Amino acid sequence: RRTITRLPEWLKTPIPSAGANPEYAKIKADLRGLGLHTVCEEARCPNIGECWGGSNKATATATIMLMGDTCTRGCRFCSVKTNRAPAPLDPHEPENTAEALARWGLGYVVLTSVDRDDLADGGAHHFAETIHRIKQKKPTLLVEALTGDFMGDLDMVKIVAESGLDVYAHNVETTEGLTPYVRDRRATFQQSLKVLKHVKDVKGKEGIITKTSIMLGLGEQEEELFDALRQLRKADVDVVTFGQYMRPTKRHLQVEKYVTPEEFDLWKQRALDMGFLYCASGPLVRSSYKAGEAFIENVLR
Ligand code: SF4
Ligand code: SF4
Repeated sequence: RRTITRLPEWLKTPIPSAGANPEYAKIKADLRGLGLHTVCEEARCPNIGECWGGSNKATATATIMLMGDTCTRGCRFCSVKTNRAPAPLDPHEPENTAEALARWGLGYVVLTSVDRDDLADGGAHHFAETIHRIKQKKPTLLVEALTGDFMGDLDMVKIVAESGLDVYAHNVETTEGLTPYVRDRRATFQQSLKVLKHVKDVKGKEGIITKTSIMLGLGEQEEELFDALRQLRKADVDVVTFGQYMRPTKRHLQVEKYVTPEEFDLWKQRALDMGFLYCASGPLVRSSYKAGEAFIENVLR
């Protein structure tokens, strides 16, 4: 098989430095001492300047990792550590996270986590409690939860969906046909669809925004991608994002294609034409990319 080694020009972006954007520098300084683990910093996300440093503080977005750094699954695109028995949950995490977020001047937070199939509830109560406490302390902070599939246990999905969050995100990651090659064997496309559909069943079609993300460049065919989008729309999923799959190490799936910025624009237009409420699409887009700005512009207006 062909291995692509050279990175196209559009992916060679410098990681922004604090000096480049005063608002970003301030948020970064505020973060010190709060004890939060941001995915933005830990993954050295290239979007940090844009997400944290938007001109409007109300739209500043960050992603926080809950429930530790060790996952019970092993998806073939992901570089998170894997273990069947990760460390127990920190019972103080919901309160500490809420306290820190209430002090940090963000407008929008994405809470995400590793998959915790070792826990009887998959961590659903921990997620819900964190959201509940955030909303108690700072009702204006918009909260998105990006969860796993809870092994298809819809009662757990309901617990998170009813916790007071604004956006429920769960990523299908790729097309239905590629799912067995890309995601952990416990994940299926239909199970993920069921999760997203159940959120709408619980909260009502207008009662919550649902969101999913798809990586491009894993070898997906155009028709398969259209099919995935059609199935997502049928489940009333409101928002979709597209980003380039980047291989974390040589042990992970190889990149089949570097999708051009123009193709990303085309998929965005196609998604909007199919009725998605909004769509972020670009080589460096991650599911949380400028999520606060997108929510405020497309939902609150
Ligand atoms: Fe953080 Fe997500 Fe923005 Fe990256 S895209 S800086 S991980 S909020
Ligand atoms: Fe990574 Fe999530 Fe898969 Fe765990 S479930 S390996 S964190 S993508």
